[in-house]
Amino acid sequence: MKIPKITLEDHVAVPGTADKVPDRFEPEAWQKISHALLDIHGQLLSDMDAAGIGMSVLSLNCPAIQGIPDKKRAVEAARRANDYLAEQVARNPKRFQAFAALPLQDPDAAAKELVRCVKQLGFRGALVNSFSQIDVDDSAVYYDLPQYWDFWGTVESLDVPFYLHPRDPLPSRMTSFDGQPWLRGSVWGFTVDTATHALRLMSCGIFDKYPKLTVILGHLGETLPFLMWRIDNRISMASRGCPAKKKLGEYFKKNFYVTTSGQFCTQSLLDTILWLGADRILFSVDHPFEKMSVAANWFDNLDTISEADWLKMARGNAERVLKLDAAK
Ligand code: MN
Repeated sequence: MKIPKITLEDHVAVPGTADKVPDRFEPEAWQKISHALLDIHGQLLSDMDAAGIGMSVLSLNCPAIQGIPDKKRAVEAARRANDYLAEQVARNPKRFQAFAALPLQDPDAAAKELVRCVKQLGFRGALVNSFSQIDVDDSAVYYDLPQYWDFWGTVESLDVPFYLHPRDPLPSRMTSFDGQPWLRGSVWGFTVDTATHALRLMSCGIFDKYPKLTVILGHLGETLPFLMWRIDNRISMASRGCPAKKKLGEYFKKNFYVTTSGQFCTQSLLDTILWLGADRILFSVDHPFEKMSVAANWFDNLDTISEADWLKMARGNAERVLKLDAAK
């Protein structure tokens, strides 16, 4: 039995913000992508229909708000973007929901914006593009730091998920990529930064203080299912003052969900099921950077998992984690 799938990682752009071609794209390729980022009720919806996808949870394209070092501008841009997302959801709420963009350059403002988005606009959680640049371009601030702990308390108390989405490491902090620009971006750079950010969160102790906090990772967990045993094994021999009370893998199993966005690979899915169980894995695409038809063709034809697990990953888990029964 196939049911309309839900996908949690599809990106859109606020009109006027997708004109500049990012470094990692050729201008012609970006023209197509930027059109798709803007055409929510046309191309995105028809791609969903063709792929048997019933609902998409919209979020901004990266780095979005995280790449605006000026705090005031970041706060204003997040508010404008979230109002725009809310308008798009209101046009077709059965097919679209949204994750809030957050100005984590200012943790208090980010917490307030999340409350507004969840309580007033009916958003399903937040999607944040990894670290924030703050005040100066060459800065990368991660959310394990003490100034973010109250923010995490707000996320837990709202009982909504925080989707930690990739962005490229800053060139000044990733000299190991020098001379090989093709390894940047979604090829490898995204993964290195996002997996590191997730490990920073697991090891800083926030999940001891906020045990009900929920974080979602895309791309089948950004390599962590493959590496978690070794990380815990090595940290147990040299913890170097790591404040987390449990093995990091315990937080991974209890506080994290992962999606299949951009990682339509059966071997990787099976490894992730062995780590997290089918209850913590959610089908997703990563439109328009991945084709919905490719994702659906892979997922709909998986013959190595049970129908019960397939149904959970296709839709059931998303309905539970995003509380879609309560969606307006
Ligand atoms: Mn994405």
